[in-house]
Order: sequence, then C-alpha cells, then structure tokens
Amino acid sequence: MSSMIAANLEEVRARIDQACARCGRDPKEVTLIAVSKTKPLEDLQAAYAAGSRDFGENKVQEIVSKEPEMPEDARFHMIGHLQRNKVKQVLKHVVMIHSVDSVRLAQQIQEDAVKEGIHVDVLLEVNVAKEESKFGFLPEEVEEALETIRNFSNVHIRGLMTIAPFVEDSEENRPVFQKLYQLAVDIKSKNIDNVTMAVLSMGMTGDYEVAVEEGATMIRVGTGIFGAR
Ligand SMILES: *Cc1c(COP(=O)(O)O)cnc(C)c1O
Repeated sequence: MSSMIAANLEEVRARIDQACARCGRDPKEVTLIAVSKTKPLEDLQAAYAAGSRDFGENKVQEIVSKEPEMPEDARFHMIGHLQRNKVKQVLKHVVMIHSVDSVRLAQQIQEDAVKEGIHVDVLLEVNVAKEESKFGFLPEEVEEALETIRNFSNVHIRGLMTIAPFVEDSEENRPVFQKLYQLAVDIKSKNIDNVTMAVLSMGMTGDYEVAVEEGATMIRVGTGIFGAR
C-alpha cells in the first residue's frame, strides 16, 4: 500500500510539473493537498514519508482524530461543508478552511477565533457551475459576502475555492476554472482590506491538470494518490 501511494504521488507531481511547463508556471506555486478523507492513518503516514505535508479532510471528526497523530509539520485543510456547531472543535487542528459557504459560518469562525485568541485563514467556496447539489456562494453573491466578512478581525480571506462538476472530459471544466480565476482577479483589483486573493483552490483527481493550467495554487487530489474510496 505505501509503495503504491509513493508511486501515485510521484505520478501526480510529474503531471503537475508537465502542466506547469505547458503554461509557463513555476511548480512551486502549486501546493498539492493529499485528500485523505476516509483513509486510515497509515495511508497518511505513507504519503508523509513520500513528502506530503498538506492533507485535506472533509469531516471534523476525522481531522480531530488524525491531526494529533501526525508529525508536527503536517498541515490539515478543512475542505468539506462545515457546521457552525463544529467550528470551535476544528479550529486548532487546521491551517485553512477552504469551505466557507455562508456569512453565518464566517461569523461563527470569527466568534470562536476571538475566544481562542487565534487568527484563521479561509477561502470562500464558490459554486461556479451553479449546481443545485453543491454548497457555496454563487459568483454574483461573493462581493456582498466579502463586504461583511472583511470586517471580521480574526478571519482572513486568502482566496477562493470551487468544486467543479463531475465530468468525463476534464476540458469541460476549463471554463469553470477560468471563471474562478477571473473572479479572483476582479476582487484583487478592488484592494479590499483584510482580503487577499493569493490562493485558488481548484482541481481534483479528474481535472487537476486543467486547473493548474488555469491558475490553481492549491489542488486537492484524493483518489489519484490514495486509490478509490
Ligand atoms: C473528496 C474531495 C476531493 C478529492 O476528490 P478526488 O476526486 O478523490 O481527487 C477534493 N475536494 C473536495 C472538496 C473533496 O470533498
């Protein structure tokens, strides 16, 4: 199992390098997040041994149980829908929350972060393709949300995240990634206090190469590293 994970990681990194070469980007601009949801600790340790430092999880319970067991320099990212009553529990275990999908959630993060005396980096999740089944702000709702969240002293918006539709041909998602990139460019040009757009979290196993070509700075790969769930 661990040699399969190491080989998969090598393959994914090579593909990231190739995608970067195609569009003149530096691979150092792209952080590979190993999405380890549902996978046992041994799999995370194997990925760590093969060089992974960033791990993505979508359940608070899994983060809370795995993070303390991993080496100090392993970083955990919350990438799934987060319930407000679980914010307090997860805050001290993650470096970033990618899935801020409502102003109320951001407000809760602010309240709990103030109580804990910490600062939290977040991304706003955008439902670019407007899928009924997905969480996230619609693109046209993002600016209004920023106007409120920018005032939260302990919540820092670092960029945007999207989960693109499930498609057979990854090229179909290129316009989705282009839209998220353009939205970030538009927001950046407004120079909003307490808001930077350094991070674009987009691309999964099926479409991360296209996402890298369109400007992703964080890609979230599960199946391609750990195998099927
Ligand atoms: C599960 C998940 C991923 C990884 O999906 P794969 O197709 O296995 O690479 C990425 N992002 C989010 C938000 C997820 O929930």
